[in-house]
Amino acid sequence: SWVHSKQKEEATQKAKDIVRMSVARTINLEPLEEFDLPVNKTCLVVGGGVAGMISALDLAEQGFEVHLVERNSELGGVARRIQTTLEGLDVQAFLDGLIRKVYQHPLIHISHEATLTDVSGYVGNFVTTVESEGRVKTIDHGAAILATGAAEHKPTEYLYGEDPRVLTQLELEERVAEGEEILVDTESVVMIQCVGCREENTNYCARVCCSQAIKNALELKKIKPEMEIYILFRDMRTYGFSEDYYLEAAERDVKFVRWEAPDKPRVEEAVEEGRPVLRVTVPDPILGQNLAVDGDLVVLSAADRPAAGSVDVARKFKVAMTPDGFFQEAHVKLRPVDFAADGVFMCGTSHYPK
Ligand code: SF4
Repeated sequence: SWVHSKQKEEATQKAKDIVRMSVARTINLEPLEEFDLPVNKTCLVVGGGVAGMISALDLAEQGFEVHLVERNSELGGVARRIQTTLEGLDVQAFLDGLIRKVYQHPLIHISHEATLTDVSGYVGNFVTTVESEGRVKTIDHGAAILATGAAEHKPTEYLYGEDPRVLTQLELEERVAEGEEILVDTESVVMIQCVGCREENTNYCARVCCSQAIKNALELKKIKPEMEIYILFRDMRTYGFSEDYYLEAAERDVKFVRWEAPDKPRVEEAVEEGRPVLRVTVPDPILGQNLAVDGDLVVLSAADRPAAGSVDVARKFKVAMTPDGFFQEAHVKLRPVDFAADGVFMCGTSHYPK
């Protein structure tokens, strides 16, 4: 009636035909046979970062056997590089405790340096072949959780890779935690936001880099209160209660300078009063003029990218990805952690930056 709303007679005739055909078909139907299919209750978790480990531990604590496969030689993923959260929680202590629990749990079997070579089967009865540390294993499992995670983007601009004074936020955090001398002669730091995201081919917000910049800025201010810190931002997306830390940074004299795409900041090497500096020039949309700030360090808030290898994992499990390369859920509201493929689920930052 809907598609033929203007052809009432023909539509009625068509409806009658369809009913007649359906009745004719039904006469020839045989009842389906019901039978029991064994379901394997073991789960495969792909990725040994925080998300993968928490999933494995949760399932194991409910009595299910879990195979956890990690492509690196150690568990922990990106969290290994993060020292504290914005709220000041000790990430390394949390991670150590989590890794210990995962290793000690008798129902969790871990494969390191693992790559998936083949996946076959269906919900309840998957068979996955894994190459790990020179050995090939076949894992029978009923469900899979893909937790391949994300990684910090390696910038290709702002002199990154050309000048050692240009770092990413994670690199800065690592260097500060290692107690490197990096900060001894550092009087000013310029942070540039939205590196490698919110632009033509990577048009998403990486969600964590504004908070990460605020966290590092507050840490630097704690170590050296007189340090000049500039954050060149497009929008400060310290969402939720993280906004309080943004205000705290402003109160501690961190200077926020806005820029608008496509007028990106420019970084060049310069000498100021005999001191080599990195000069960052940014068009200020409020002043309508270029501002130049000198930094001893330039820190890039680089986007999250889907981890290397996630495309291959998606292909093997025949699951969908978004145009940005993150895993695509079956339905954003109704099935937010399921893939369309039955028995395959996702968690953590392989889904999107969070
Ligand atoms: Fe840019 Fe902030 Fe979003 Fe990161 S979180 S992409 S820095 S707006």
